[in-house]
Amino acid sequence: MNIEKIVEHLKCRIDEKYILKGESMANHTTYKIGGNADIFVIPQNKEELIYCIKVCRENRAEYFILGRGSNLLVSDDGFRGVIINIEDNISKIEVNDDEIYAEAGAGLINVSYKAYINSLSGMEFACGIPGTVGGAVYMNAGAYGGEMKQIVTEVEALDQNNEVKVIYNDEMRFDYRYSAIQDANYVVLSVKIKLTKGEKEEIKNIRERLRLHRQNGQPLDLPNAGSVFKRPEGHYPGKMIEDAGLKGYTIGGAQISEKHANFIVNTGDATAKNVIELIKYIQDEVYNLYGVQLKVEVKMLGEFE
Ligand SMILES: Cc1cc2nc3c(=O)[nH]c(=O)nc-3n(C[C@H](O)[C@H](O)[C@H](O)COP(=O)(O)OP(=O)(O)OC[C@H]3O[C@@H](n4cnc5c(N)ncnc54)[C@H](O)[C@@H]3O)c2cc1C
Repeated sequence: MNIEKIVEHLKCRIDEKYILKGESMANHTTYKIGGNADIFVIPQNKEELIYCIKVCRENRAEYFILGRGSNLLVSDDGFRGVIINIEDNISKIEVNDDEIYAEAGAGLINVSYKAYINSLSGMEFACGIPGTVGGAVYMNAGAYGGEMKQIVTEVEALDQNNEVKVIYNDEMRFDYRYSAIQDANYVVLSVKIKLTKGEKEEIKNIRERLRLHRQNGQPLDLPNAGSVFKRPEGHYPGKMIEDAGLKGYTIGGAQISEKHANFIVNTGDATAKNVIELIKYIQDEVYNLYGVQLKVEVKMLGEFE
C-alpha cells in the first residue's frame, strides 16, 4: 500500500486533523494493546465514511472498520492498512414513538439509556455492553437473555459495490455472536430498533439489577475485551476454566481474571503475544480436561505468529 497516495486521496474530503499516521492501536482498544496502524482515519459523517471506504477499495488498500475496539485484539506489529474509526463522530440517535434510529457509531450504552429515558423496554440487556451499535449488530451482541437479533428491524449498510442497502432482520441471519455482515463484508451505517412501551420505574430496576450483576461479576477495573471464548453447547467457558484451576494464571502482563475466568485482563504491560499465548494455553488445558475445543469470540487484527 502506498501510504502517501492513500493519504492524498483521503485529504480530498477529510480534514487533515482526522487522518493520523502511525497511530497506536493501544489507544483505541479496551485491551489497551496493539501496535501502530499505517493510517487511522476518523470520518465525521456517513458521507465521509463512505468516501473513506471507496478510497480504500479503489486503491486496493487493506482497511478495517473500528468501533470502540471492545471486542478486539490487535497484533503488537499493528495493522498494515487503513483503520476507519466509526465512533462518537457518527452517532446520531433519534427516538420516534417506539422506534429508535441510531447511527453506527452511537454507543450501545447510550442507545439503551435513551430507550430507558423514553420508557421503552427491550434494550435493558445492552445497558453495560461498551461497544458501538455497528459493532453490536456485526457481533449480534447480547447479554442476560437479550440480543440485537430481538430488537433490530432494519440495518442500513454499504455493500461491496459501494451501494447503500437496507437489510431487514430476517435477512441478517443473526445467530449466537454472528450476523450476515461478518461474511458479506458490508459496513453498517445505521440501524432501526423496535422496542415496546414500558414502565420507566420497571426499566430502571432491571437496568440497575443488570448493572450490579456486571459490576460484581466482571473485572471492570482492568482493561479487557469482554468474554474471550464463545459458549460451547451445554457448557460455560468461565466455569470450565475456573474448574480447571486456571483463575489468576498469568503470561507476561495477561492474566485470567480472578473475578471471571472467561475474561483475560491486561494487568499493565500485556502484549498481544501474551494474550494469544494465554488463549492457546487455556484452549489446550480445557481440551485435555473436557475434550471441548473453545472458540475465540474476540476478533483478531493484524499478523499473529
Ligand atoms: C467489559 C466488557 C463487557 C462486555 N460485555 C459484553 C456482553 O455482555 N455481550 C456481548 O455480546 N459483548 C460484550 N462485550 C464485547 C463488545 O463490547 C461487543 O462485542 C461489542 O458489540 C463490540 O462493539 P465495538 O464497537 O467495540 O466493536 P469493535 O471491537 O470495534 O469491532 C468488533 C468487530 O465489529 C466490526 N465492526 C464494528 N463496527 C462495524 C460497522 N459499523 N460495520 C461493520 N463492521 C463493524 C469490526 O470490524 C470488528 O470485526 C464486552 C466487552 C467489554 C470490554
